[in-house]
Order: sequence, then structure tokens, then C-alpha cells
Amino acid sequence: MGVPRFWREIRYRYQLIGTKCSNCDSTFFPPRLICPNCRGAGKVEEAKLSGGGEVVTYTVVRVPPEGFEKQAPYVVGIVKLDEGPSITSQIVDCEPEDVNIGSRVRAVFRKIDEEGPAGAIHYGYKFALEQ
Ligand code: ZN
Repeated sequence: MGVPRFWREIRYRYQLIGTKCSNCDSTFFPPRLICPNCRGAGKVEEAKLSGGGEVVTYTVVRVPPEGFEKQAPYVVGIVKLDEGPSITSQIVDCEPEDVNIGSRVRAVFRKIDEEGPAGAIHYGYKFALEQ
């Protein structure tokens, strides 16, 4: 990811802010500026997300891409947020066998990678099993 895009997204990554359409109440994360359901008829505003969600499906990554070797095996899942949108995220702080379809998860703030421009460390949200 290049520097400009990273800085554009940083606010959203740090605060888990999506957008919500005033017309149909659809919530989007990552944020969208135009509601695809209403084709721009609705007013789209920022909406802070609760961070709660449910695992829809997941996979255990045992042969990781370069840069993630130390974390393997790890779990990547699709999380359906309580507000509706689904996002792909790493599920952290657990053993792969602890994750199930339907598990409740909550957003946690974690280091994403250290591969960024000038060795910058990127932080953002991942998900952990709800206790
Ligand atoms: Zn809409």
C-alpha cells in the first residue's frame, strides 16, 4: 500500500468508522461515499461501528505469505459486523481450533505489519474471540 492511500485510510483504520446511508440504513465498512443500493439518492454519513461481530467463515493459514512467517499458523476469517457489513480480518489471540463458524468476536487494535514505507509500523483492527 502506498503512502497516500495509507494516510487517507488511517483515520478509518484507527477508529473503526464506517459509513451509513440515511435512506436505507445500510452500513459500509470500509466506508463508501455513495450507497450502491440507493445509487446516490441517500445521504451517506460516517458511523462509528461497535466492533462486535460473528465469524461467517474462516481459514487457517499454515503456509503464510512473506513477512507473516512468525505468526503461522493463524486464522483469517470473514467477520459479519453487528451493523451488517462483512470484512476479512485476522482473528488473533487464540488457537486455530478455538475458532468456529458463529463465534462472537470483537475488534482489537493490533500491529498489522512492519513492511510499510520507511519501515513504518502499521496498526489497525483485527478481531479476537469474545470472552
Ligand atoms: Zn442506501
